[in-house]
Amino acid sequence: MSATNIVLLGAPGAGKGTQAARLMETLAIPHISTGDMLRAAVAAGTPVGLKAKAVMDAGQLVSDEIVIGIAGERLAESDAQKGFILDGFPRTLAQAKALNELLESMGSGLDCCLALTVDTEAVVERLLKRAEIEGRADDNEETIRERMRVYEAQTAPLLDYYGGQSLLREVSGMGGVDEVFKALLGTLESS
Ligand code: AMP
Repeated sequence: MSATNIVLLGAPGAGKGTQAARLMETLAIPHISTGDMLRAAVAAGTPVGLKAKAVMDAGQLVSDEIVIGIAGERLAESDAQKGFILDGFPRTLAQAKALNELLESMGSGLDCCLALTVDTEAVVERLLKRAEIEGRADDNEETIRERMRVYEAQTAPLLDYYGGQSLLREVSGMGGVDEVFKALLGTLESS
């Protein structure tokens, strides 16, 4: 399998985190989630966390400058040199362009953008269920709808961006976890 620098794209609740964790195990490359990194920063009360908290709780996007900074630092670590699965980054065109430039400057590049496609209403239900289980502050119905709007307006354009670079591979995220995982692996193997 050659494709190891992977961006996993999809609406909130499409199952990116679950699938990324499984891909990490199978491919033995790190799973890099800017959402997890930001939540850790909030929990630790760092300057980044203090800036990000209210924005995250409202379901909006943390500034490009902050996320490009934390993603860039993480991608420069040694374990990310053999490959990575980016989950939740990039989320804007500016972030996608910054990622391209960063990888280029490291003599590297993206191999594949895996996009999990889902039906929005089903996803809202999935998120509401997860909110009950995990008690995430950004998982009430109003915030979930806002995150969907933000995804459509700011992140969905990345599908065209990566499509234009012939890196886009779309996989349905509507099946069970095992079924979706198998489809993702099959797509990676053939890309
Ligand atoms: P996630 O766990 O990926 O759904 O991220 C949770 C929240 O963290 C998002 O709703 C945003 O507020 C923030 N966040 C995570 N990644 C990014 C990103 N790449 N750009 C901007 N905000 C982000």
